[in-house]
Amino acid sequence: MSLNNFIIRLENVKKIYGKGKEEVEVFSNLNLNIPNRSIYGIIGPSGSGKSTLLNLIGGLDTPTEGKVFVKDKEISSLDDGERGNFRAKYISYVFQFFHLIPELNLEENVALPLIIKGHKRKDAFSKAKELLNCLGIGEFEKRYPFEISGGEQQRVCIARALITEPEIILLDEPTGSLDHKNSDILIEIIKKIHLDKGITFVVVTHNENLKNICNYVHHLGVNNV
Ligand code: ADP
Ligand code: MG
Repeated sequence: MSLNNFIIRLENVKKIYGKGKEEVEVFSNLNLNIPNRSIYGIIGPSGSGKSTLLNLIGGLDTPTEGKVFVKDKEISSLDDGERGNFRAKYISYVFQFFHLIPELNLEENVALPLIIKGHKRKDAFSKAKELLNCLGIGEFEKRYPFEISGGEQQRVCIARALITEPEIILLDEPTGSLDHKNSDILIEIIKKIHLDKGITFVVVTHNENLKNICNYVHHLGVNNV
C-alpha cells in the first residue's frame, strides 16, 4: 500500500499538556497510519489520550513533537486559521454529548455548518431536510433538541456531520450516552454511510458492536510510552 492510501498519518507524535510540575505526557512516539475509506477504531482506558488523539487529527490541537498529516498535508505545521480552514473543508466531528444548539430546531442545527460556509439558506435547509429524512427523523425537523430522545439527537449530529460532505468523520464515544437499542441503530447508520459514501471514520469507543464494524483498531494504553 502506498503512502497515498493513508488519509491520516501520525509520525512520532508526542503530546504533553502543561509545563513544569504540571506537565502531563499523554503519549510519545505515536505512529499511526489510517487507511483511506476505513472505519478505524481507537480504544483505551479513560485518560489514555483518545480524545487528545482525535483533536490532533482534527486539527483542534497540535502535537508537542512529531507530525500529523491529513490527506498528505502536514496540518501540525499550519497556523490556527489555516488548520481551521482545512478542518472545515474535510473533517466533521460527532461527540458523546451531542453539542446541538438548544435554541435552534433540528433542521436549523443540521443546516448551520453549510450556512456558516456561505451556502444559500434555501439550499442548506433542503439538504438538511434530505439528511434528516435519510436518517429516519425527517418528521421531527421543526422540533428542538430537548424534544427528542438521545438516540434521535445523535442521529441529528450525524446529519450535521454529513451536510458538509466531509472526507473524514471523527466520532468521540458516539454511543457513550445511548442505550443498547439506540447504539445499535447508530452503528447500522455508520455502516450504511460508510458503504454508500466511503467516508473515513475514526471512532473512539467502548462499545463491542461498534468495535466489530471497525476495519482496524488501535489500542492506547495509559502512558503510551
Ligand atoms: P481520554 O479521552 O482517553 O479519556 P484525554 O485525551 O481526554 O483521554 O486525556 C488524556 C490525558 O491528558 C488525561 O490525563 C487528561 O487529564 C489530560 N488532559 C486532557 N486535556 C487536557 C488539557 N487541556 N490540559 C491538561 N491536561 C489535559
Ligand atoms: Mg475522551
